[in-house]
Amino acid sequence: MMDQDTVERIRAVTGEERCSTSRARTYAYGFDASIYRGQADMVVQPLSTEEVSAILAIANERRVPVVPRGGGTGLCGSAVPVKGGIVMDMGRMDRIERISVNDLLCVVQPGVVYDELNRALAPHGFFFPPSPGSGEACQIGGMVALNASGMRAVKYGATRDYVLGMTFVKADGEVVRAGTGTLKDSSGYQLARLMVASEGTLGVITEVTLKVSPRPKASAMALAAFDGPERAGEFVAALIAEPLIPSSLELMDSVSIDAVNRALGGPLPDCNALCMVEVDGEPEIVVKELRTVEEVARRSGAVSVESTVDRGQMASWSSSRQAVMTSLSSLRPGSSSVSLADDMVLPISRIPDAVKAYQEIAERHGVTVATYGHAADGNLHTKMLIDTRDEEQWKAAERTVREIFQATLALGGSVSGEHGVGMSKAPDFIIERSSAIPTMVAIKKAMDPNNILNPGKLQQWESPGIIGDLRYPCDPPRD
Ligand SMILES: Cc1cc2nc3c(=O)[nH]c(=O)nc-3n(C[C@H](O)[C@H](O)[C@H](O)COP(=O)(O)OP(=O)(O)OC[C@H]3O[C@@H](n4cnc5c(N)ncnc54)[C@H](O)[C@@H]3O)c2cc1C
Repeated sequence: MMDQDTVERIRAVTGEERCSTSRARTYAYGFDASIYRGQADMVVQPLSTEEVSAILAIANERRVPVVPRGGGTGLCGSAVPVKGGIVMDMGRMDRIERISVNDLLCVVQPGVVYDELNRALAPHGFFFPPSPGSGEACQIGGMVALNASGMRAVKYGATRDYVLGMTFVKADGEVVRAGTGTLKDSSGYQLARLMVASEGTLGVITEVTLKVSPRPKASAMALAAFDGPERAGEFVAALIAEPLIPSSLELMDSVSIDAVNRALGGPLPDCNALCMVEVDGEPEIVVKELRTVEEVARRSGAVSVESTVDRGQMASWSSSRQAVMTSLSSLRPGSSSVSLADDMVLPISRIPDAVKAYQEIAERHGVTVATYGHAADGNLHTKMLIDTRDEEQWKAAERTVREIFQATLALGGSVSGEHGVGMSKAPDFIIERSSAIPTMVAIKKAMDPNNILNPGKLQQWESPGIIGDLRYPCDPPRD
């Protein structure tokens, strides 16, 4: 609990309306899109870097935890206030300060929603490409703090590849301008890069300078069906080796296809594995590349290949893919889809081995696992279907997660490609990055000596288990 004097001092910075300690408000800010819950003591909504600085200075002096929050769409518990304290909602800092396409950049506040930024860039013929599936709700600050990306990362990269500079506020309230408003920068430590994927543990981002890309003039899509995910994985490797870099390449296994077809009335071919490939660029190149995609798919054993340049058809296929996550919960009565082991990344050539290994592990533990993802950049998502009221099923899911992560690391991969570490990947992140953890601990101590910024996450995770602090009525004690 925060003492009344601290509450009053913070309220003096923001005013009554943007600072709340009400039970309802603090409860609502205890969740993100993950399986976890916390309980905040206060919610603040700053409007400026100066207000962020003043609030942090008070919180630091009083040793009150502060969790920055964007759209709250994170899937691993990164924005959940597990140690209580202040949730700092950045959503009101939502101005696009400048679009300067001549300089190939824009300057935005952290609360700008991804799709809003692209709507503003579109008339200029430019876009900010990372394309997370949550683009209509997630914010630029959250994307930078998690290094978000999505379907287009194989060709266009992740958020980190677009961050040129930023303003952030350290735990003690000191304002730091990092990076530049230029495309190149060799002047010393790349502090803006250090903030990428820092998950709100090193500072609060209050302004970001992002590189922007010209919009491709044309695009086309192909749907290739296979008799199993291994064949589909081989197609991915063959296409990249062609060489052809698609603008996106999504893989779906039979569980994912079945879920979408049941939820949306059968828009996808009924098969064991599907690859949805998009190519973009100049119109004549797009047509040529589409032919190559079809040819490589047939050569790799596709049982059917469809393709289109029709925008309506492409939008329909894309939304079928986007619907995987939400459709899974309606696949089996009594079971829900939970985000666990949701975001492994592997060397592209190991995708077939990984899909096979995940299926074997799931079968061994009697858990239904859906595997899908951005296969051409090596990023696979799994979702587990469990009865969330059943403690035993949570335990089985946890055992499955641990083995999936072990298999991923054995194949040369990593526990997170785009969603971050938060809580659900913390123990395996600590194992994976063991030689870097002491350096991470030292950086955290230097930037936040009183440990007020999003404490208990990443390398500070203390429990060997990840099932605990659940948002569900069944909440088994953590191991
Ligand atoms: C349906 C769905 C689909 C998704 N698809 C994708 C996808 O394709 N790719 C992908 O990468 N992710 C995806 N996600 C996960 C998530 O949406 C993204 O990671 C997104 O970037 C999170 O942004 P947010 O604004 O919601 O951040 P939040 O969840 O609010 O916060 C995430 C982290 O960022 C920190 N943070 C937020 N703002 C700031 C700030 N100003 N300064 C410092 N730290 C800050 C928080 O403390 C927290 O640690 C998906 C989620 C959902 C629900």
